Amino acid sequence: MTTTNQNVETSEKKSLNFVQEIVETDLKAGKNGGKLQTRFPPEPNGYLHIGHAKAICMDFGIAEQYGGTCNLRFDDTNPEKEDNEYVEAIKEDIQWLGFQWNNIYHASDYFQQLWDFAVELIKQGKAYIDEQTSEQIAAQKGSPTTPGENSPYRDRPIEENLELFYKMNSGEVEEGSMVLRAKLDMANPNMHFRDPIMYRIINKEHHRTGNKWKAYPMYDFAHGQSDYFEGVTHSICTLEFVPHRPLYDHYIDELKGGQDLEDNRPRQIEFNRLNLTYTVMSKRKLLALVKEGLVRGWDDPRMPTLCGYRRRGYSPESIRRFIDMIGYTKYEALNDFAMLEAAVREDLNARATRVSAVLNPIKLTVTNYPDGQVEELTAVNNPENLDEGTHIIEFSKNLWIEADDFMEDAPKKYFRLTPGNEVRLKNAYIVKCTGCRKDENGNVVEVFCEYDPNSKSGMPGSDRRVKGTLHWLSQDHCVPAEVRLYDRLFSVENPSAEEGDFRDLLNPDSLKVLENCYVEKYLTEIVDKKYLQFQRIGYFTYDKDSTNEKLVFNKTVGLKDTWQKINK
Ligand code: ATP
Ligand code: MG
Repeated sequence: MTTTNQNVETSEKKSLNFVQEIVETDLKAGKNGGKLQTRFPPEPNGYLHIGHAKAICMDFGIAEQYGGTCNLRFDDTNPEKEDNEYVEAIKEDIQWLGFQWNNIYHASDYFQQLWDFAVELIKQGKAYIDEQTSEQIAAQKGSPTTPGENSPYRDRPIEENLELFYKMNSGEVEEGSMVLRAKLDMANPNMHFRDPIMYRIINKEHHRTGNKWKAYPMYDFAHGQSDYFEGVTHSICTLEFVPHRPLYDHYIDELKGGQDLEDNRPRQIEFNRLNLTYTVMSKRKLLALVKEGLVRGWDDPRMPTLCGYRRRGYSPESIRRFIDMIGYTKYEALNDFAMLEAAVREDLNARATRVSAVLNPIKLTVTNYPDGQVEELTAVNNPENLDEGTHIIEFSKNLWIEADDFMEDAPKKYFRLTPGNEVRLKNAYIVKCTGCRKDENGNVVEVFCEYDPNSKSGMPGSDRRVKGTLHWLSQDHCVPAEVRLYDRLFSVENPSAEEGDFRDLLNPDSLKVLENCYVEKYLTEIVDKKYLQFQRIGYFTYDKDSTNEKLVFNKTVGLKDTWQKINK
């Protein structure tokens, strides 16, 4: 109890979101015996995306903040779509974000209890077996302004309901031939009260319970009760569950038989979903992209999944920072992908190791530099944190530079290499461009320059100012690499709001592969580093496709937000 109180006091210094306010009020009032217990309840039917990260930060974060507990509960009530692969991936992603659950539970742990509860409701005349088709049931639902119609099976004798319910689970009746419905109120203004389905038949092996069950509870008949069985105090979820809340409360009332005190029960609280521009968040759509080969897997760096962002080089800290920035409210919003990128950029600026890479190489020959001479120069690993030290880069006569750092006929304000112009080669010398060599088609294949031996970086008197600084690599001291550049996955801001097939809205240029790049040799020595900056280009990370022969890098994000300017 003391921890709780201490935490309440310190947290008051920062302004609270509405969920924190509710939790504090409840804790101060001693509700639920002063206990705080939350859960994160994913359905293991796909990989977690950044929307889930928002829920995770809330569920785990608030428990951590107020000395409570948070459990991981797999909402595994539909064996048709669920798989153990997803279970493992979900655990990995939660830990990657920096959270740890107290216990792992499964909705399937409660299949027997839920079954017994359903049997009890049938015995009390509060549930019945409906043998209509799903179309017939839907047609009788009515609309929010017109009442529905009662099913012709609504008044079946209790004994018959019981017998059929057992048959639903024994495999004696076909999938889709009958369902168990709660006998509530077909005229209720809340559509969820119009005799909601409690159980349906699914003839598919369950990844945990095997073939024991054929009748599976619906989400609404499993979720609230699972919260109650576990002792969840605050059941935090997203806004689309607001209309489900009365049913959530109803089943818990039935379960308790009106016995418990009002405050000793889970309370559902809803916040706004995270929606991100230029992507989709629905697991159904993400699965379609993976299955149809429209992306290279769940962890494709263009996907909004946590494993995709991890592979792209986003840090968990920057994702948590972004979620902090957007906050928790009661209003739906569309969050700007550029804001996520800004959070990533800010974090990586502080921690990325600075190296050189040439993505589109062209030769630069320093004509007055001695043949065969090699100088070892010092490069700072991270100017934002000098404790990270330095590494050696080699300088020689034969270099690589970016092709677009040379222009034969340049406009006035071109401060890179053009005949007669001087630039500094980063960490090395000032060089003056003297010309170029072209192939038979007139393409520039080699650029020439002369260096000033007295201009070496760090030398006394070397601070002569030139307008441009270029990155470069020594041809004999670099290694080949493949570099993958990414753009928005979709070409429209809000693909979910558009008519038609979402696949037609994919950005055809979201992946660009550069196969003939060069990077510093140093990159073969620091392969355990996650966050890199290719100077003047952007932030990058090693891809898992890297081999001893060829390193592969993913572009995480550019140094600046140039995207808005180009595309708007
Ligand atoms: P589906 O796309 O299949 O409908 P889902 O997004 O609802 O799935 P679940 O696995 O059921 O996925 O979600 C687990 C938890 O994550 C739920 O509490 C849900 O409210 C939350 N969640 C899912 N998507 C978002 C989102 N975009 N923003 C915030 N929370 C989310
Ligand atoms: Mg769901």
